[in-house]
Parts: sequence; C-alpha cells; structure tokens
Amino acid sequence: MKKIILTGDRPTGNLHLGHYVGSLKNRVELQNKGDYDEMYVFIADTQALTDNFNNPKKVRDSVIEVALDYLSVGLDPSKVTIFIQSMISALPELTMYYMNLVTLSRLERNPTVKSEVKQKDFGSSIPVGFLNYPISQTADITAFDATIVPVGEDQLPMLEQAREIVRSFNNIYGDTLVEPKAVIPDNEVCRRLPGTDGKAKMSKSLGNCIYLKDDSETVKKKVMSMYTDPNHIRVEDPGDTKNNAVFIYLEALCNDEHFKKYLPEYKNLDELKDHYEKGGLGDVKVKRFLYDVIEDILEPIRSKRKYYEDNIDLVYDMLKEGSKKANRHAEETLKRVKKAMLIDYFD
Ligand code: ATP
Ligand code: MG
Repeated sequence: MKKIILTGDRPTGNLHLGHYVGSLKNRVELQNKGDYDEMYVFIADTQALTDNFNNPKKVRDSVIEVALDYLSVGLDPSKVTIFIQSMISALPELTMYYMNLVTLSRLERNPTVKSEVKQKDFGSSIPVGFLNYPISQTADITAFDATIVPVGEDQLPMLEQAREIVRSFNNIYGDTLVEPKAVIPDNEVCRRLPGTDGKAKMSKSLGNCIYLKDDSETVKKKVMSMYTDPNHIRVEDPGDTKNNAVFIYLEALCNDEHFKKYLPEYKNLDELKDHYEKGGLGDVKVKRFLYDVIEDILEPIRSKRKYYEDNIDLVYDMLKEGSKKANRHAEETLKRVKKAMLIDYFD
C-alpha cells in the first residue's frame, strides 16, 4: 500500500506556535525525510465556513495567510501538494454519501464536536454544517487515500470517526476506502500547547496565541505578560513548573543549544526547573530566556515570509497548481466510490 500523508488547517486566522509544535514542525520533518509516496497539505476553507459562514472575508483573507505561513516554515511545493479544500468538488460529493453511514447521536457524542460546540456558544442552535464537519473531514482524508494524518491531540476523535466511516463503507460496498492512522507528536506537551493565558489550548478562536508572523516587539509583550504560577510571588518562593505555561513552552521549544547561547549558567531545562521549584529564580529571567528561544525559531520564519509576501504571485500560482493536482487524485477516488455504490450508470 502507498504511504500517503495528509494534513490541513482551517483558515480562521494566522498559524501560531501551537500549530508549529503540534503539527507544522512534524510535517516539515516528514517532508524532508521523504519517506512517503505522496504528501498533501490543505487549507480547509469549506470547514472554516461551517462556523464562520457569516464572515467570508475572514476566511478568504486567511487562506493566503495560512499559505504564507506554510511556505515560511519550510513546506516545499516541489515535495508537497498544497491545495484549497473548496477547489476539490469531489469532497462535498463524498461527504454526501458518507452522511448515510453516521447517526446524529454519534456526531453529537464526538468529544471534539462537543467541546467546540461549548466553546462557540452554539447552545441548541448548532448549524447542520458544523455538526457534519467530522464527516466532511472523512471525505478530505479518504479522497486522497491518506494512510497517515499528523495532528494535534484535539483531532484524535475526528480520526476515530473517520476510521469508523471507512470500515462501515467497506463493509457495505466492498473494500474501497483506505483506513487512516493519526500520528501525534512524541513530545507530550506538543500535543496540545496551552495559550499564553494558561488556558488548555492555544487557539485562533480564543485569542491567546503567539503567531508565527508576530514581530519581535509583539512576541516580547506577549511573553512578558504570560501566565505563570500564581503562588510564585517573591523570587525566593518555590514555584510550580508543571501547570506553568512558560515552562510548558520551554519544554516544547528549547534545546541544550539554546542554554549555551542564551543562558549558559544552566546546562539544560532540568537544571532551570530545579532552581525554580526550589525557589530563588524569578519569572522575568525565565521569560526573557523563553523570548530568546522563540525569537531564535521565529526569525528565519519571518524572513522567508517577507520573501513570499513580496512575491505573492508565486503563492497564488502554487495554490492553483496544487489544487489542480489534488483534484486529479480526488476524482479518481470519487469514481471508485461511485462504482462501489453502483451509481456509475454510464461508465
Ligand atoms: P480554530 O480555533 O479555528 O479551530 P485552531 O487554532 O484550533 O483553530 P486548527 O486549524 O483547528 O487550529 O488546527 C490545525 C491543526 O493544528 C490540528 O491538527 C490541530 O490539532 C493542531 N493544533 C491546533 N492548536 C494546537 C495546539 N494548541 N497545540 C497543538 N496542536 C494544535
Ligand atoms: Mg481547531
């Protein structure tokens, strides 16, 4: 069986450090290892519209922003097919067929849907399109015969639902669809990076993000006002590093080289944590170090972004070409699906 990797992001704003550690970094590594047959990365505008249907401009503008983020972190269109979801007309068609295989109560029980419904304050007025998005996500995955889907932890229930739909489709119509596997980051703290406010997840919709495109001053402001341990009041006080977003970010982002470069009085993160837990280490010093680490990562990303912003035609061409190529694969799958469902009347 071919090894096909697929991931995507919703164009609801710019990509942030949570995306970077939870998914983007992983994708660039996979891309550069080259151990795959096909790799797709897509911008999920159709999905973004399910809960942003009344804000089409935000979605449209974010498509190009996300594409810029992709290219800035090092995704390479000569190795990866980057495309826009709504350009692939086979996707809504597949969604329609898969809808028959899922019950309403199963969708309502999906833990990701449940928590997002709460977060978005839909109450009992949930748009059908939104509730349906796990099914449309299954269409995204299966249209490209994806075997591997690298995601953050919040997406695991989505992948589980996709696998159920695939099994049920294959049971009824014969072996047609490929069952995908989720891959989450090895480093546990990268699976769900908290927000700068200490909330469970850094998320575009919660406004608690450090964006990949933030300038140096903005990053500094955000880091210096980050949430730490509320009981660590005086420098001498012992501090908690476990529920402390600053230390969680360091866990996700820093390495021993960063210590050599910016904080040589400590060898590694364990030594820094020890000191903080014992007392005698102030928040400001740790935050300054975190700022240096983030800058070390973001600086090269910013300069790449600048190049593509100045050559925006390249970005549009890339998306157009990628969408064309992705369309060919999805159309093949749709043909296979319709044949299996006996709705291929004139072939
Ligand atoms: P929205 O608030 O619009 O849902 P989001 O910030 O959750 O936006 P998505 O586009 O939904 O971002 O997620 C894209 C990918 O990034 C998914 O695989 C998701 O699991 C991952 N991801 C998003 N936020 C984080 C985070 N804070 N930590 C780790 N991974 C994340
Ligand atoms: Mg999300």
